[in-house]
Amino acid sequence: MKRSHQESDRSDSNLYRLLPSLHDLLQTPGFAALLETEPRASIIHAARRVLLRMQQEIAAGRHTQASLESELPFVHVTVAEEIARTSRYSLRRVINATGVVLHTNLGRAPLSVSALKHILETAGGYSNLELDLETGERSRRDVHAEQLLLRAMGGDRRGAAPYSALVVNNCAAATFLALNTLAEGGEVVVSRGELVEIGGGFRIPEILAKSGAILREVGTTNRTRLADYEDALSAGTRLILRVHQSNFSMEGFTARPALRDLISLGKRCHVPVFDDQGTGLITSLEPLGIASEPTLLDGFHLGCDLIAASGDKLFGGPQCGLLIGNADLVQKIRKNPLYRAFRAGKLTYAALQATLADYASGKESTIPVHRMLNASATEIFNRCEWISRQVNSAELAAQAVPVLSLIGGGTAPTARLHSAAVSLHHSRLQPQALLLALRRLEPPVVGRIHEDQVLLDLRTVEPEFDATLASLLQQIAVSRP
Ligand SMILES: *Cc1c(COP(=O)(O)O)cnc(C)c1O
Repeated sequence: MKRSHQESDRSDSNLYRLLPSLHDLLQTPGFAALLETEPRASIIHAARRVLLRMQQEIAAGRHTQASLESELPFVHVTVAEEIARTSRYSLRRVINATGVVLHTNLGRAPLSVSALKHILETAGGYSNLELDLETGERSRRDVHAEQLLLRAMGGDRRGAAPYSALVVNNCAAATFLALNTLAEGGEVVVSRGELVEIGGGFRIPEILAKSGAILREVGTTNRTRLADYEDALSAGTRLILRVHQSNFSMEGFTARPALRDLISLGKRCHVPVFDDQGTGLITSLEPLGIASEPTLLDGFHLGCDLIAASGDKLFGGPQCGLLIGNADLVQKIRKNPLYRAFRAGKLTYAALQATLADYASGKESTIPVHRMLNASATEIFNRCEWISRQVNSAELAAQAVPVLSLIGGGTAPTARLHSAAVSLHHSRLQPQALLLALRRLEPPVVGRIHEDQVLLDLRTVEPEFDATLASLLQQIAVSRP
């Protein structure tokens, strides 16, 4: 019997009666086919959820008899999608089209091919992580990073005290471990301009307090002089701490001593200087027009007593914290029982060693972060034009536009790189809805909105993904609203 639209809207309970029972559903040909590929239990589980969702849609008044009848023949497809959605990994590869090279929400630095290969080679089986193959004795895992790290930094500092290195889970752990080992119960002198929050709740004053060290603030927010440090030194001083102001910049009436002068002061007064360098930058960013970003090598060659850096920022390797410094200080840190709690795993060492080997052999252009930072705006623009040509349609207007991109990861916050993006305009989807539709693709595409336009900045997309991205965008063009 045919009812009018109005009638069916008023009699919801009739709509519920149109829903098949689970038992009847499983008898349909669509489900018979599904049962050949999927376990019965997961089909039942998913079908229950799909039926419940349809009941809720009816209750919310979102169905008419017509809409329900047009959906029912495809319930097996919806159930198959539901199974696929719930059985895939929640941690997935995404296409980063934000243009932000070091995006903490997107896992920061992508690993190089050599890093991935070395993980495959060493982690699928056993490895000599802590075994000296010559003597057959136990050794320490840091040997897999130490020599290469020192080589990547330019080798020996002639005439200087020997350096040693240590790897922990991240730079926050490295900083904490160093403070706890070298300054517990004593004073640490820090400029008021460097009492910073790095992000994710990592605040220098809090980390210092947790480490058991006593904070001795010197100078002011905008200006700290060498004399301020000097006046604060006492018999109770254990460390001078320098923190890289990585994620903000100060302009105007500002001053702080050069690292070189802090190191001289430390040597003169016999107080070690600890530089929380943060970014792990090895190759200067000057060719990109970013002159102010210090490198890991600066402190190393100036003879800084201890330096901490992140592995997955501008260094371009796996998440880890690198501690490099005078061998006697590093040895003390290694003996801290907390080192055992913070030590990195074999996957990290495998990726770190390969990344270091790339630096040591002058192959840093194979490290994705380097490639992305150095990609030319013209080259990126040409790729944007190619993709735009593939996808331009009545539903989805695509156009290459010049943009500025951020480095991210709390580095060089004021620096902008000239880049290019595919600007998208969808005939039915507003920018936020389009951004969501892009994230629901497989693989998900993460873009950004700027001045009401959806932008896909290709600086952070590997060129071999261009064709994939083009066909994903074609799917968006024809997708249902
Ligand atoms: C990023 C950063 C940290 C924290 O590094 P994680 O590896 O994320 O723990 C600490 N100090 C500085 C100066 C940083 O830039």
